[in-house]
Amino acid sequence: MNQENVQEEAEQSPALSQCAALCSGGVGKRYGKVVAFKFGGSSLLGAERMFHAAGLVREAAQVSKVAVVVSAMKGVTDRLLSIEKALAAGKLPQARREAEVVLELHLEVLGNLRLDEETERRMLRELQPLGRDLQHEVEGWGHGVASAEFSDRLASFGERFSARLFAAALEKLEVASVPVTSSEFVLTCDTFRDAQPHLEQSKQRGRRILLPLLKEDVVPVVTGFIGATPDGRITTLGRNSSDFSGALVAYAVDADELVIWTDVDGIYTANPQESAEARLLHELSYDEAHALAASGAKVLHPKVLPLAAESEMVVWVRNTFNPQARGTRIGPPVEFSSALPSGGAA
Ligand code: ADP
Ligand code: ASP
Ligand code: MG
Repeated sequence: MNQENVQEEAEQSPALSQCAALCSGGVGKRYGKVVAFKFGGSSLLGAERMFHAAGLVREAAQVSKVAVVVSAMKGVTDRLLSIEKALAAGKLPQARREAEVVLELHLEVLGNLRLDEETERRMLRELQPLGRDLQHEVEGWGHGVASAEFSDRLASFGERFSARLFAAALEKLEVASVPVTSSEFVLTCDTFRDAQPHLEQSKQRGRRILLPLLKEDVVPVVTGFIGATPDGRITTLGRNSSDFSGALVAYAVDADELVIWTDVDGIYTANPQESAEARLLHELSYDEAHALAASGAKVLHPKVLPLAAESEMVVWVRNTFNPQARGTRIGPPVEFSSALPSGGAA
């Protein structure tokens, strides 16, 4: 959905504050681009971080149409999958308790969002049933038969909780938003735990849901990680695949850019948490980024790159906690050398 009045600012990420200030000052909103923002689990861990991430969306929404994709809050997917392990080991009380803890964790974040009473009541009406559904899954487990299908249903709860909370955080910042469950449009095969999406069908279905929202300046907050088979059974696209969901949403809405917001300044030559020698890479081709991702750099899911290359969308990897840093740009070669990064700060 390329907007009219497109401004060619291809080498500058949309969340830059200078740009927001320039473009919104005095002349009302001008939409140059469509962007997809994907936030990872550490960017969403708790109300304070959700508000910080929501602030980045608000800033970008001044100058662009924005679609958001969220992971589960950090640690939640592991916790959900530990329920399955407890059940397989015959520890039903432990599984019940874990399911309760998952609900409590999200209710605590809800409390810390400090929403007005009416919104908080509405949110409780959304989150409590999710918690009950999770308990039903635990109670209805097929006694001793490990099933990938069951595992995906359990794992899907993290993103379903976080999308609702993030949309509420956006609303509190006066950004109109609505949570969207990706299983409504990401159509996959039935290889549970590693389901492959049908790209074109998912794109068409995604457009029908997402474009009317973008048109109305409503930010869709889409659950990463999950899809559904044609007969409606929930699947997941594999661990750490919310980046891929981000690319799918970007592809569906013909976004100019996908920004993967994470907890490091971009893609490095090696994991910066483990290697003091790791160097930040400012600019990568799709092939270079794919090689790094495929060799295990967790910062970006390898399936993002072929899709981004096909649609020539620019992918940025940026640090939610250090948004001044420019991040890593992945895309077609930059045409003007003056647009090349000068070393980090945007
Ligand atoms: P998110 O929850 O945002 O998806 P991930 O934990 O999946 O974040 O990915 C970010 C992490 O990837 C970083 O914290 C870092 O430890 C790790 N990582 C591994 N290899 C690299 C690399 N080459 N460059 C940057 N980060 C890397
Ligand atoms: N929440 C999922 C996981 O932990 C997907 C993701 O975070 O990308 O694997
Ligand atoms: Mg990740």
